[in-house]
Amino acid sequence: MAIQQQINKVIHGIGASPGIITGRAYLVERFKVRLHQKKIGPSQVDEEVERFRRAIEEAREQLKEIKENILDPEVRLHAFILDVHMMILDDEMLIRDTIENIRKKKINSEWALDLTLGKLDAAFKAIEDEYLRERRSDLHYVASRIFRNLMGKKHDDITKIKGKVIVVAHDLSPADTLQMRLNQVAGFITDIGGRVSHTAILSRSLGIPAVVGLEVATSLINGGDLLIIDGEAGEVVINPTEEVSDSFVERKKRIKSFEREVLKYASLPAETKDGVRIHLQANIEMVDEISSAQTHGAEGIGLYRTEILYLNRKDLPTEEEHYQIYRKLAENISPGIATIRTLDIGGDKFLDGYSKGNEMNPAMGLRAIRFSIQETDIFKIQLSGILRASVYGELRILFPMISGVEEIRRAKTLMEEVKKGLTRAKIPYDRKIKIGAMIEIPSASVTADILATEVDFFSIGTNDLIQYALAVDRINEHVSYLYEPLHPAILRIIRGVVQAAQHAGVPVAICGEMAAEPAYVLVLLGMGLEEFSMNPVAIPKVKKALRMVTAEEMRILAEKLFDFPTGTEIKRYVRQWMAERFSEDFVKYFAEELKT
Ligand code: PEP
Ligand code: MG
Repeated sequence: MAIQQQINKVIHGIGASPGIITGRAYLVERFKVRLHQKKIGPSQVDEEVERFRRAIEEAREQLKEIKENILDPEVRLHAFILDVHMMILDDEMLIRDTIENIRKKKINSEWALDLTLGKLDAAFKAIEDEYLRERRSDLHYVASRIFRNLMGKKHDDITKIKGKVIVVAHDLSPADTLQMRLNQVAGFITDIGGRVSHTAILSRSLGIPAVVGLEVATSLINGGDLLIIDGEAGEVVINPTEEVSDSFVERKKRIKSFEREVLKYASLPAETKDGVRIHLQANIEMVDEISSAQTHGAEGIGLYRTEILYLNRKDLPTEEEHYQIYRKLAENISPGIATIRTLDIGGDKFLDGYSKGNEMNPAMGLRAIRFSIQETDIFKIQLSGILRASVYGELRILFPMISGVEEIRRAKTLMEEVKKGLTRAKIPYDRKIKIGAMIEIPSASVTADILATEVDFFSIGTNDLIQYALAVDRINEHVSYLYEPLHPAILRIIRGVVQAAQHAGVPVAICGEMAAEPAYVLVLLGMGLEEFSMNPVAIPKVKKALRMVTAEEMRILAEKLFDFPTGTEIKRYVRQWMAERFSEDFVKYFAEELKT
């Protein structure tokens, strides 16, 4: 618990999403309701029943208000859960039983509701059906709202945060982060997490500045403290003096003018000085990012992570929902291509009601394609939605976390079944739809030659590839110093995949975060890669860097890198190489990550 007021205290973490902002700290703590249990006299009974009814009414008004304030159409899709909560407020048993407890046992509303809750809880636990059993959490959510109303407590509800606040939390899941979009949170900082965690990736696509892995943020910061966060440098200043604030304002201006300058490259072709045409596409998490992809100069969507369709809701998306969203994607991206990645749940993103208990090692657990080929109904619904939408533009299907050929074969068999069903029902779909494998597990990279016989394209996911190859948890701030994209092992693995793909004539792209860093892109270009997918905002600066080099000089540079035994030496060499050829600004803005 933070007690002391800090002045000008700087703490360092990992820059997760760029942007410099100032705001007041809002500490997110999971507030636990402590119940006040009290006996009441017979003359107080009616009044107590009335108090209980008022708390229910207040809860109804609060839920209505939350629902009305959801402006985002995609988030609105999930708003029906609020209707479920309102229905619970109408539940006969909940109301009648609690009132009966007040009247018969002469106890206050909190106590009476708690007793009812215990009874309902036992009934829920006994339900066999996992989905229905999970409705228990809705009941508890609603009950805690009533308890707080009874006790006059404020709601610690992340969706209620408004104005220019900076959320300070020990940890935030991608689902928590997603909810922030509702409320214009100015930024967020967390004690734990890494740059390629999905929370960080999501904050970048939402454009929310963020610093993660600060370790001590929640212990040093008090609610209401003034904070400056620098999402690029990974710095947070607690209660800055005016002088310090001014220096950040200056830095912000410099960055903004650089960004404006770079944005001019969005509409230029991604082409090297010796005329090699490079294909730059966008990674998106939500379909409404298409316009950002287009204004930043993306040729198509190289990776649509579809998990968000499944988060923050208690049910599953229907086939129609999938279809409508993918159709919108297909229509809006045409004549470009969009690559839809099938559900990559598990790891650090979880589906309500489908977690298989607490996995010890979720990154290596029931994640992505493993989940899909076990929960085939969920998988087939998504595939069917994609296939139906595939007649409205060119869509490709990408399978995540492939570890070997058998998973691809199984996924293809399931897809064939879906196709047959559509054919029988006379529903049109693109019969030649291309399928691809994410290369993000070392076993896939070393068997790329075999996988190439089963798929139409590869997409290298360096975020996970680095995690699994170097055994460095991508969301663990304690080992983030080991997370090295230019590690000799990573360069060798990527080279192997590129060679296998070229040999088999299978196109290969990079869609991990490495593709968003110009210095890495230049090295990867030197290794033969010509297709990159990244967060839209990174596209102009990558284009600018590509237009300043020849593919031939990058090939010579990349070849040289294989002589070095460590990532540190590789980084130093690349930085030196760039410093000799380009301006100081180029190195500062395009090769920032090469600092050793
Ligand atoms: C990757 O692993 O590099 C990737 C692109 O997928 P994600 O970050 O969603 O795991
Ligand atoms: Mg991945």
